[in-house]
Order: sequence, then structure tokens, then C-alpha cells
Amino acid sequence: MTIQTIIKKAVKRLELEGKLLTPDFYAEAFCIESAKAGFTTEDCSHVKNLTNTLNKEFQKELTQYHIKTVTQLTRFLISKLNRTNSSHSAELLESQTVFTKRVLQVVEVLHNKEATQLAIKSLDLLNRDASAAEINQYRQLWVNFITTYDDTFLEKLKALGDIDKTNLKKSIENLKIPNSDYDLVESMELSSIASLLVSSLVPSIASSVNEKIAQVSQKIKNNPSLLESSSIEAEIKSAILLRIALDKESVKEMIGSLDGVLDKLSLRLIDMIERSDSSNAEIQKIKSELEEYNAKPITNFKVAHQKLYTIAVALEENTQALSNDLKTHSDEVSILSAKIEKLEKELESAKEDSKEDFLTKLYNKRALDEYMNIKEAEFERHGHNFSIVFFDLDHFKAVNDDYGHDAGDAVLFAFAKILKKEARTDDIVGRFGGEEFMALLVETDAKGGAIFAEKIREKVQKAKFMYKGKRIEITVSCGVSERQKHSSLQNTIKDADKYLYKAKKDGRNRVVYK
Ligand code: GH3
Ligand code: MG
Ligand code: MG
Repeated sequence: MTIQTIIKKAVKRLELEGKLLTPDFYAEAFCIESAKAGFTTEDCSHVKNLTNTLNKEFQKELTQYHIKTVTQLTRFLISKLNRTNSSHSAELLESQTVFTKRVLQVVEVLHNKEATQLAIKSLDLLNRDASAAEINQYRQLWVNFITTYDDTFLEKLKALGDIDKTNLKKSIENLKIPNSDYDLVESMELSSIASLLVSSLVPSIASSVNEKIAQVSQKIKNNPSLLESSSIEAEIKSAILLRIALDKESVKEMIGSLDGVLDKLSLRLIDMIERSDSSNAEIQKIKSELEEYNAKPITNFKVAHQKLYTIAVALEENTQALSNDLKTHSDEVSILSAKIEKLEKELESAKEDSKEDFLTKLYNKRALDEYMNIKEAEFERHGHNFSIVFFDLDHFKAVNDDYGHDAGDAVLFAFAKILKKEARTDDIVGRFGGEEFMALLVETDAKGGAIFAEKIREKVQKAKFMYKGKRIEITVSCGVSERQKHSSLQNTIKDADKYLYKAKKDGRNRVVYK
């Protein structure tokens, strides 16, 4: 649709409605037609835009008066202005300001610091005709105040009586406060101070709580308000002094016992160091330090702790060194003991093999037994006779007693030499044991044996046994028996022994045979 068509329709509308073709009627008809055609023009909403800026009261009136055009709006506003009374507005403003000031003066004296401050500043604003921006700023501060205002503390007072928020004066009169000297907040602080104080009275080191301390603590715990009285001050002071004394006592005891431990440890360590041949400079240093502590006892825990630690480290090192030593030594010891064991076994078998008596170098008992068995076998097989002669030195115990064991040995050795010298090569002579000797005479009867024995007896009696310049008188008794006259070797031996016994019995230094 073209603009000409809209204009034509607007004019037509005015004709139909019987309206004059005035600018206002025309504008109104044009706007209706253009809106119908789907156009929105700035001019058509001009009045509406203006009326929107007016307050609600005015807008209501405008609809009552059916104001549609700018001309009608202008007329309405002019008549409104004509009706406004300026002196009345000023009066109203004045009375409102004074009213606000009075309210602020009241707020200023209320018991709220923040409200008081705000009231003072707001009054100042009103007194000096502040700008709208400043007034607006304080309006916002008042809004903030009321949104953050907190009177919930009043709820906490409920325990002490009924609280009526609308009548605080009456509420306060109704509170049942136990002691009018202090308020609840103070009493709460006092009770926490009291419990702190009580715990400070308990000895921190000493294990016992002294009777007096316990009494004072209980008293304060039961009635914290006592802390305000001066009498309790002296009691607390003396309790604290007592606490310090108790703690000091325990520290002294602990240090005493630590000192004891240190003493023992140091002695042990010094002993260890002295016994080991370690020349470790570190250990020597610790040793001399320890000797110093013995002279002046340790008086503080830190030092004691440090020293104990040093000693422990030194002991550990030393023990480790010792155990290493011990290990090496024990290895050596086990090698040695294995060697000894081997040697012992060798000695044992050597002994078994040996036929020689260690002192006299004659045959020993084992060799004599062996030879007797050989001679016995020869006798049994070939009938080769033999004689057994037993020699026993007389009163030989006395020789040992009078001249000593070494002298006895020397005599035994000398006697063996005589025996060996007088025997024939085929004869077997040996030491039977102790100071007893035996001769095994081959192809010899008892008579022959007795001659041999007699010869020896005589030689011995005449011999000059000298020991350390002293002459020792020696005699010997002999018993002789021959194999052929006995049923067995055992009986032959038994008889030789029997005749020897007889020789002794008959007065010694003689030969008995059969
Ligand atoms: P008797 O005339 O009755 O034989 O008296 P006795 O003292 O000789 O006899 P007894 O059997 O009482 O003592 C033997 C002594 O011979 C005791 C012992 O001390 C000593 N005797 C034995 N063997 C040895 C030895 O190898 N060396 C030394 N020095 N003395 C020995
Ligand atoms: Mg004897
Ligand atoms: Mg004897």
C-alpha cells in the first residue's frame, strides 16, 4: 500500500466520522489507517512516550480526560500548573524536614553505636542542605543498617528470664542475675579464665598433684567469681609457687636418675675401652668427656639426652668392633682346636704304637705283655721255657718323700740302666709300672732267673745313687717263677708276684723263687 492510499483512507475516515479536517483529527485518522496498513510511525506514539514520563497519579488522570493529542496534553499540563500552590509545597517540605530531624535526634540517643553515628551524619546532611546524591547515599546506609541489625543476643539471655523485645526495660528488670556485681558475659569469661588457671596450677612434670593445689583448683572451678576477690590472689600465688617447687623436685629426681644411668654407662664404656686395645681417637675423647661428667653432674635434659646419644653411638661402634674381633678370634680358635684335636689323635696312635717307657727307655707294660704272649706262643709250640722276674724297689715312697720326686725319677732311670746292662741281648727287660720292673728271660729256669735277680739286687745295694750331692740308699726285692712249672702264663705271672710279696714280707732286699 502506498502513502497516497493511506492519506486517502484517512480523509475518507474523517468524512465518514463527520469530523473537520483539522491537523489533530487528520493526524489521528492517519495513525489509525497507517497502523491498519501495518506501518508504525514515530509521530503516532509521540503522546504515549510523553505521558509515560509522568507519575502514576497524572497518568490515571490523563486516561480519565481521554487525552490523545499533544495539544490536549499541553492544555492539561498548563491547567495543572495553574492549580499548583508553591507556598503549600514549601510548607510541607519544611515540616517533613523538621520531623525527620527530630526522629534522627531520637535515634542518636539510643544505645546503638552504629545507629547513633548514622543519625549524627544524617542530621548534618539535613542542616546544610546536602545534594540529592548525598541524601541518597545515606538513605542506602540506613537500609544497610536495618538489614544487618542483629538482636539475637537477646535470645541468649532467655536462660536468665523472660525476654520481651518490645519492652527491653521490663525484660532487664525481670532478669535473674546471680550476682549483681558482674553481668553474664563477664561471668562466662571468668569461667574460661578459671579453667585455664586451674590447668596452669597442675604440675606439668611432677606426677603428684599437691593437696593444696587441688583445693584451690576446686574452689576456683566451683565459683569462678572468686577470681575477682583479692583474697584468692594470695592463695593462687602460693599454689603457683608450690607447683613450681613440685616440678623442680621432679626435674631434680629425673636428672638424678639419669645421672645414675650415665655413671653406670660411663664406667662400663671406660672399662670396655680400657680392656680393648683400641686406640680410636673418637672413643678416647668420649672417655675423657665421661670422666668430666662424673666430676660435675648434668643439670639439663638436653645435655643429658645428647650425652646419652653419643655414648650409645660409641657403645654401638665399640661393640661392633669387639664382635668383629671376637668373630675373627673365634675363627682362629676353631682352627687351633681342630689342630689340637688332630695332634691329640696322632699322639694317641703314637702312644699305642710305642713300646718304650718314656722315663727309663726300657720296654713299657704294653710291650712286656706283647712279648710275654710271644714267649708263651713259643713255649706252647716249641716248649721253649722262660722265667719271669718281678723287681720292686724297697720303700720307694720314702725316697720321693725324703729327696723329692725328681730324685725318685733319677733313681728309676739309674736302676733301669743297671737292669739293661746286666740282661742278655735275648732277654727282655721293662718297667711294669711305678717302681716295679720285669725281666723276661728266655730259655731260663727259675734258678737261673734267681741268679740274675740276685746279681741285680747286689749291684743295686752297692750302687751309689747320687742326687744333688746326696747318696740315696736303694735296695730291691725280687720274685721269680718259670713257665714250665706252671699250667699257664697267668699262673706264672701270679706266682712271680706272690714270691715278690713274700720277699717283701721276709724283710725286703732279697730274692724269692721256686
Ligand atoms: P715297698 O718296699 O713295700 O715296695 O714300699 P714302697 O714305698 O716302694 O711301695 P709303695 O707301693 O707303697 O710305693 C711305691 C712308690 O713308688 C709310690 C710312688 O710314689 C713311687 N713311684 C712309682 N712310680 C714312680 C715314678 O715314676 N717316679 C717316682 N719318682 N716315683 C714313683
Ligand atoms: Mg711297688
Ligand atoms: Mg716298692
